[in-house]
Parts: sequence; structure tokens; C-alpha cells
Amino acid sequence: MDGRKLEDYRDIVGDKVIATLFKESTPLRGKRILNVNSTFTGGGVAEMLWTTVPLMNDLGLEYGWRVIHGTPEFFPITKKWHNALQGENVIIDDHEKEIYTGINELFSRFTHIKHDVMIVHDPQPLPLISFYPKRQPWIWRCHIDLSEPNKEAWDYIKKFILRYDNTVFSVDKFAQSDLPNDKALIAPAIDPMSIKNMEMDRSRQEEILKENGIDTDRCLLSQVSRFDKWKDPKGVLEVFKKVKKSIDAQLVLLGAPATDDPEGQEIFQDLQKEIQGVEDVHIINKQSELLVNAVQSQSNVIIQKSLREGFGLTVTEALWKGTPVVASDVGGIPLQVIDGETGYLCQPTNYDEFAERIVKIVEDQSLGKKLGQNGKDHVRNNFLITRLMLEWIQQIKATLRSTKVGTI
Ligand code: UDP
Repeated sequence: MDGRKLEDYRDIVGDKVIATLFKESTPLRGKRILNVNSTFTGGGVAEMLWTTVPLMNDLGLEYGWRVIHGTPEFFPITKKWHNALQGENVIIDDHEKEIYTGINELFSRFTHIKHDVMIVHDPQPLPLISFYPKRQPWIWRCHIDLSEPNKEAWDYIKKFILRYDNTVFSVDKFAQSDLPNDKALIAPAIDPMSIKNMEMDRSRQEEILKENGIDTDRCLLSQVSRFDKWKDPKGVLEVFKKVKKSIDAQLVLLGAPATDDPEGQEIFQDLQKEIQGVEDVHIINKQSELLVNAVQSQSNVIIQKSLREGFGLTVTEALWKGTPVVASDVGGIPLQVIDGETGYLCQPTNYDEFAERIVKIVEDQSLGKKLGQNGKDHVRNNFLITRLMLEWIQQIKATLRSTKVGTI
């Protein structure tokens, strides 16, 4: 883990924010808090833990992070849960349920916990709570789009959630009304000091794009996302074909593998077939923070054509770089893209609307600049990692108080 310190963020967030974090976290100094998720790399959850873990430690908390391991069958099953909870009509049979809970039980035998608070992210490690004597408060942090879950899947998953003291969602409509647990809302956030979000010289950005075969003298449209059906890369391709009728442009679809998402490779291969005969499309499947930064900074428009979206840190990252965003009006995206102010929102399956908005921004540079500037301000005011940390500190204190465990 890197030696990141909160004082490094003073220039961006100001002294008051740093002082408030130190003051508010005082009662939690020395408290052992453990996060459990299912991957160290790829996707928004890992992205946030890479930053919050070292910074919470800088505040004096013993803030840790463990990753649930699985057999090769485990992650295809947990991806099924993910898909079902995002509304897909999939059946998960008893054998698959046994593997799901069995891997959680096995992990509990390998991994002893003596922490003061547990924070469990998403469905993969959710059943862990059933396999430990419950000595501390447990919080379930759900990052996925639960706007229309498959009812059967939700009902099964819910039986584990009922054991938790508290739940945290990104968007109010994800907090299911039939869930009796305490519920809190915490929107995700980005780290402005990470390699992917730091300011980079234009010449360096161009160099990186050229190394990846991207022409820096032509209009660039991009979507940066895991190769996942919910991110609708095929839909992006259809939109691009429409845009090409009006303007000369290139499309970049940049994704990186996540160890807990076994569907990515197949979707990537499918896409490679789909682009046969479509010119000026670059599909790049690799993990590079620098490339993410360069693509998000240099694109004329960033597209996020998700069909479901827990929050969409890729949107936040693009807005932070002052790049206008045209995105689907789903999940957590409308918290970030305010239609006509920080970008444009479209109906996810309305390809014409996407194409029209993109062309409008490309043809009117001053509009793109205005949307980009507003977007950056919106992220500065709402979606930086220091706000996320403060809300977590308050949430952990509130949970300790309400469960009357410990001395808070
Ligand atoms: N990401 C990346 N490389 C890529 C594609 C995505 O590092 O090629 C990162 C992206 O920058 C963001 C995270 O993965 O930080 C994705 O988070 P998001 O909330 O957008 O979606 P999720 O993958 O969690 O559904």
C-alpha cells in the first residue's frame, strides 16, 4: 500500500476538510475496521478501497482490507447474483447456492476476525456473516444497481442481509422498501491524486494515446468501462455508427479485466467480431491508469451508455477532467450528470438521442467547455474521496452507537 497522506490533498480540498476529518475520526482512533470485497483490481469498489484504506490509516484507524478467494466456479456464480440483482431473469440452482455459501464458509475458517466493525461489500462475501460468531457490528455496503432486482434472487440474498446491523447504498431508490435494516446513503467518490485522476501534461497524454494507436488530431469519443453487458458496449458501437454519419470521429472502448468478473473476456471477443467492417474503432483490453487518464482527458465526449449503473465512477472521473459526458439516465448517473448543465442524460436505448447529443457537443466547442467546467465543479463539491471518508467515519460512529458495542 502506498504512503499516501491526507495533507497531500490540502491544495485540492482545503485545510478545513482535512482538519474536520482528523477531528471527527478521533473517537475511532485505534479501532479495527475490516473491509471485505472480492477483488483487488478492476471495478469501482477496489478503486475506492485503494485510496480510503491508506488514508483512513493516516487518520489513526486500523482500517484493513481482505479479499474473498474463490474456486474457479465461485465467480461465475457470484456474477449471476450480480446480474440477477440488476434485474436479469436468471435461475440460480441449489448446487450454485451451496457453492456460494460454501466458499464463504471456507473463507471464514481461513480468516479470523477480531475487528471492532466489519464492512462487507456487495453480494460475493455477503454470507460471511453467517459463519462467524457475531461480536461486532456488521455493515453491508451495496454498490450495485438494485433499482429493479429479480424478486427471487433478492429474497434469497435478503436472508443474509437481515443479519447485518446496517446497510449502505449509493442511491435512495436502491434501498429496497422491504428491507427492515437501518439504511444509509453514501455516494461513491474519486481520488483526485491517483495516477488516473491527476493532472497530466497534454503532450504526455498525446504520447500515451499515440502509443495505443489513437490519432490525436481527430475527434475522439470514448467509453471507459469493464466489458460487461450492463455497460452496453454494443449499444455504444451502434451510437457511434450514427454519429459517423454527421462527423468524422474515432471511438475508443477501453476496458480492463476484473478478477471477480468472468464474463469480460467473452464480451471483449464478441465485440472484436462486431467491429469488423466498422472503421475507426479501437477496442483496448488492458489495465493502465495512465491510459484511462489520457483517454478521459483527451476525448471530445465521454459516453456512458449503461443499462444499469450502481454509480459509475468512470463518469465522475471524466467530469473531473472537464470532459463533457453523454450518459444513460440510470442508477447513480443522474446524481452526477445534470442534464444540460454537466452533460446530457439520454434514455439508455435511444441511440438517436445519444448520437444527437454527442454531435451537438462536438460541433459547439463552447458548449463542451461549459459542460466540462460545470462537471468539474460538481465533482469538486460532491464526489471527492474526502467527503466519502467523512461520511464513512460518521456512519461507523453511528453504527457503534446504535448497536451499543464499544465506547463510542
Ligand atoms: N477502469 C480502469 N480501467 C479500465 C476500465 C475501468 O481502471 O480500462 C476503472 C475506472 O477508471 C473506474 C472503475 O474501473 O475507476 C470502474 O468503476 P465504475 O463505478 O465506473 O464501474 P464498475 O466497474 O464498478 O461497475
